[in-house]
Formats: sequence, C-alpha cells, structure tokens
Amino acid sequence: MMGERTVMQEELFYGFSLERHVPGNHLLRAIDRFVDLSDLRRHLAPYYSPIGRPSIDPELLIRMLLVGYCFGIRSERRLCEEVHLNLAYRWFCRLGLDGDVPDHSTFSKTRHGRFRESDLLRELFETVLRRCMAEGLVGGEGFAVDASLIVADAHRQRGVARTEDLPQAGRAVEEYLAVLDDAAFGGATPVPPKYLSPADPAARWTASWGGPAVYAYCTNYLIDVEHAVIVDVEATTAVRQAEVGAARTMIDRTQERFDLWPERLIGDTGYGSAEMLNWLVHARGIEPHIPVFDKSRRTDGTFSREDFTYDHDSDTYRCPGGRRLQNSRRAFTEPRSGVTKDDTRIYRASKSDCDTCPLKPSCCPKEPARKIPRSIHEGARDMARDIAKTEAYAASRRQRKKVEMLFAHLKRILKLGRLRLRGPCGARDEFLLAATAQNLRKLAKICSPQTLVPAT
Ligand code: SF4
Repeated sequence: MMGERTVMQEELFYGFSLERHVPGNHLLRAIDRFVDLSDLRRHLAPYYSPIGRPSIDPELLIRMLLVGYCFGIRSERRLCEEVHLNLAYRWFCRLGLDGDVPDHSTFSKTRHGRFRESDLLRELFETVLRRCMAEGLVGGEGFAVDASLIVADAHRQRGVARTEDLPQAGRAVEEYLAVLDDAAFGGATPVPPKYLSPADPAARWTASWGGPAVYAYCTNYLIDVEHAVIVDVEATTAVRQAEVGAARTMIDRTQERFDLWPERLIGDTGYGSAEMLNWLVHARGIEPHIPVFDKSRRTDGTFSREDFTYDHDSDTYRCPGGRRLQNSRRAFTEPRSGVTKDDTRIYRASKSDCDTCPLKPSCCPKEPARKIPRSIHEGARDMARDIAKTEAYAASRRQRKKVEMLFAHLKRILKLGRLRLRGPCGARDEFLLAATAQNLRKLAKICSPQTLVPAT
C-alpha cells in the first residue's frame, strides 16, 4: 500500500553536524589534510593595522580561493554563492552552518593590497610544495620545463599601436610601465609588439598558438617528473626568450629555496639554444635532455654543417672532400679570439682547395670558398646531441608529456584557459593559485586514493 505523509511535523530544534554530512571520500576532505595555514597570520601581521575594525579573516579568503581554483569556479561572485550554498565548501572554509560569506569585492581589495605586498600566494605555493616533498612525491632527479599560452582578459579587436596611445591611468597600465625593462616582460625582446591592449598592455599580441592572434601571457611550469608535482611556476609575456629566462629563474629559485638540484632537465626545442644548453651543462651541471635548436641544415641540396667533421684536437673541420677548414690561417702579432658578435667562430676552407674541388657545385656553388660557423657553446650542443641517442633520452621524451598533461588539466578541468585578472601581477596571482590547486589535488589523489576527484 502506498504510504502518505499525513501530518506536517516540524521539529523545534535540530541537531546538525556539518562534519557528519561531508562524505569521507570528498576531495576537500583529502585536501584539507594538506592545507597548513598555521603560519598565515604571522606572515600577514605586518600588513594589518593594530587598531580599527577587524578585517575578514585572511584564512577564510585563502580557503575560499582554494575552493575556487580546485573546482574551476572562475567567478568570485559565483564562488561566494557556491560557498554559501554548498555544505562541503562551508566545512572546508570553517564557516559552520551559519557563518557569513564575505562579499565578492573583498577579494579584489585584499588581493591588490596585502596579499601582493606580502607575496602570500607564493608562500602558500611553497608551503604546499614542502608538504609534497615531505610526503615523498618529489624525487628531485629529473625536472621538465614548458610554457603554455593563457589568453589575457583583453578584447582582441581593441588595440593601439604605440605606448603613447594608451590611457594615462589605470592599474594595468601602471604595471605595464613598471615591467618595461623586466626580462620576463618588456625586456624579453627588442621587437615591439604589433598592438597593445589598452585594458592590459603587458599582455602580448601573439598568434603562436596556431589560431587567430590574441593578447596572452605564458604560464611556465617546472615539474618533477616522478609524480608530476609542480616545483615552480612563473608568469611571463608570450615570447620564447622570456620563457627560456623563466626556466633559468625557476631552476635557480628551486635550488635556493628547496635545495633541489636535478640531474637532467627535459624540455622542447625552444630551450635548445646554444646559450641555454651551455648554461645548463657548464654553469649548473645539468644534463640537457633537450633537442638541439639547429638551423644549419640546408635544403638546397648543398652540404650542411653536419656533413663536415669537427676535430677537437686540431680545432678544425674536415670537409667531404677531405680538406681542412680553419678558424684562422694567419699568424697575428696580437692573438685574436675570432669570436663574432653572435658568439660564433667562422671556419674557412682555402680558396685554392675549393677552386679545384670537384664537389664545389654541391658545397659552395656561389661562394669562392666554404665557411662553417661554429658556436662557442658547441660543446654543450654536442653533449645534447650525444644524449639524444641514448635510451634515457627516449624515456625523457615520454616523461615530457607529463607537463603537457598539467597544462591540459589547467585549461580543461580548472578552466584557466583565459585569465580573469589583468596585468603581470594578476597573471602571477592566478598562475600561483592554479599551481597550488594542482599540487593539492595531486596530494589528495596519491595520498588518499579512495578520494573521489571530480572531473569538472
Ligand atoms: S668545395 Fe671546398 S670545402 Fe667544399 S668539399 Fe670541396 S674543398 Fe671541401
């Protein structure tokens, strides 16, 4: 027989425990174990006035931001609504059933002020990284580096051609002027951008992602390949030179802050310039598992540089015709280095050898004699070429996909395909929080395997 509720009886008192209603395998339960904010108040204390009306608890703001970044809630208004309505979010934020959720405008005020001045978000990222290390998730043997474009919060069809045409005021314009000489932004390349966005002039106008040109920043990740834990993150403009500079900054900072010194670095061809390989091999003692950036191969059918054999002992090249190419044939009274402004040395064949050589049409048909430029960092490039023939290198190629997976996760699951904050500081804040969230989710997934990790 079908039952029917005949009497509406509302209880006068309810006993309700948030603790009991958050499932044991909820992602936030697993993450909560690893969020240590015990040092937060001491870190922020110098940035608060000792008198006046008490502020919103900064720990509450950080916990709410972590909820937002862990679950891909990009809008701060929506985040406030979700925390208000969702029991698990309330539990994680220590709000109880009746706690007030702060207004969304509190985030922007606090972020632009105390959080940035105190570099709190980097402190938070490093606290989580220390926990990853304590849990044994960071091997420290092999690192991988890569960068990914993130579209800036700027309309792609509104741009100006010159700095003088930018609006005179605004936080994003002030930040742009402040980083004009910064190697990670304005100082990365002497090539001026085609357009500047009045809304966010530090964002670079670029089409390097293969689609229509957009204004964008780059997030740079340095990861440990054992468990794909992010060991450092850096925001730069969307220019390759800035990304290579960021890789150096991150390697040095990781060593300085955490005493992590990898034996090998995995990267793509963009990191395979002669200067970068030389810095890795000779200045830092790191094996470059990186394809060499080499534009010496010829496509017109004539001999390429690889057809010439270098002899270390005599510091000469031997050509396919068996002749020697030397850096210098004259005895100068004052010895010369022979290094050009491009950091190369030019090795030349003798004109008399080439004039009589039957291979000349396949070697240097339009020149009197063949020249071969050799970078002063060629030793490091040769080492990278030798490593590329090993099995360890083939394994490194597979491990490099881990960093690309993290970027895919960042954009598809955490929904950070487009920034919400403007300026270099906004990009830095967003990338730090997203990397922190990714490391926390990684900790939860590995250390609490029964946790239900939502896909979206
Ligand atoms: S043309 Fe000159 S450099 Fe080229 S193979 Fe002949 S001798 Fe050697």
